[in-house]
Amino acid sequence: MAENVVVIPPEFLRCAGPNCGVLKGSSDRWWLMWSSINHHGMPEMHLAAWDERLAVQEGTIHVCGEACAQKLQSQFMGNILQKTIRANSA
Ligand SMILES: [Zn+2]
Repeated sequence: MAENVVVIPPEFLRCAGPNCGVLKGSSDRWWLMWSSINHHGMPEMHLAAWDERLAVQEGTIHVCGEACAQKLQSQFMGNILQKTIRANSA
């Protein structure tokens, strides 16, 4: 059984930053972010330097620089706060 895996060449990846979407091209100064749920059931956000293998992993988002990383972090924090407020007012 052949697996139908679509591998996107890194230079065709786009920044996940809000209102950004810039193409990676050959720039090396990109970052990777992903979120996960830790063993306490709490969401965590991770940030790592660009790595070709990590970049193509499911759930990894590609970030063109510090500014977009900060926007995404702020989004992540906002989402958590909203959920907390909702949970507390329920
Ligand atoms: Zn960006």
